[in-house]
Amino acid sequence: MALERTLRDPIQLLDPASYLEPVPTPDCDVCGALADQWRDARNPNSPNYDVTRASDIIVEMRRHQGGVKGK
Ligand SMILES: [Zn+2]
Repeated sequence: MALERTLRDPIQLLDPASYLEPVPTPDCDVCGALADQWRDARNPNSPNYDVTRASDIIVEMRRHQGGVKGK
């Protein structure tokens, strides 16, 4: 079973964090846009449905909110 992990991407669909809805910062356009994309990517009825993309969006939002400051 451990072999399966080595064949896959480190960002897993099994990561529980990927399923938590991201919390956008109020009045932030970037967060708002990312949240919209996330909902779209998490909607099985959407043509843009892509859970891997949803994970990426969450990472992107966390980086946007927490990272890169004081430039
Ligand atoms: Zn933001």
